[in-house]
Amino acid sequence: MKVYLSVDMEGITGLPDYTYVSSNEKNYERGRLIMTQEANAVIEAAFEAGATEVLVNDSHSKMNNIVIEELHPDALLITGDVKPFSMVQGLDSTFDAAIFLGYHARAGQKGVMSHAMTWGVRNMWVDDEVVGELGLNAMVAGYFGVPVVMVGGDDCAAAEAKALISGVKTAAVKETISRSAVKSLTPAKAHALLKETAADALNDIQAKPLIASDAPVFKIEFTNYGMAEWANLMPGTEIEPDTCIVTFRAKNILEAYQAMLVMTELAMRTSFC
Ligand SMILES: [Zn+2]
Repeated sequence: MKVYLSVDMEGITGLPDYTYVSSNEKNYERGRLIMTQEANAVIEAAFEAGATEVLVNDSHSKMNNIVIEELHPDALLITGDVKPFSMVQGLDSTFDAAIFLGYHARAGQKGVMSHAMTWGVRNMWVDDEVVGELGLNAMVAGYFGVPVVMVGGDDCAAAEAKALISGVKTAAVKETISRSAVKSLTPAKAHALLKETAADALNDIQAKPLIASDAPVFKIEFTNYGMAEWANLMPGTEIEPDTCIVTFRAKNILEAYQAMLVMTELAMRTSFC
């Protein structure tokens, strides 16, 4: 059994705000260590459930957060940026299950540090399904026939996962008080919960792959029109009249994913004023 583990940071135990997830902030060194230990709990459970390979993909910001010398010795780690498939780099049809850890709710929703890729994205859609990072990443896994069997994060990420993915198991390691305050388990208790959930998810896989349509219409709504104009520089895109929504007709979900990376990257070049 091959297990793929995408680890984001906003949904990691005990982390309430940007001071833990931004590399130049005072709590970051603590945050990345808690993140690494949390990954270890899941990796350990995966090997106990019979995994022969666990591939970990650092999926937050510059994607070089996980402390490799503290990581489970038998895991493999993808670290660094740029990666053609970003948060789902390295995931393919050879995997039996995917686990998303440290995930957060989509933009504009209740949830700790809720967002979608950047602060400039208000909404994303694949056909008519509104998606955040969780949904879009799960669809890439689905393209390869891989089910997302477990999601770890705050209570709002867990609820989002349950609404999207049939049969997924969730571990809510912290409760949202506001977008920047949490009521959290301690890491020790969170590790126990995560191990139990991972064992449950992997020993009897109930989750179904989340499948997008063959040629999906992908849309991003940006927070201002300048961002939409930048994103619209990408050939094949259109701005929906009188909105900040940029549309791209993709040949498959993989192309939609790469379009998302290009459009958001371009959009972030706009200025505040
Ligand atoms: Zn993140």
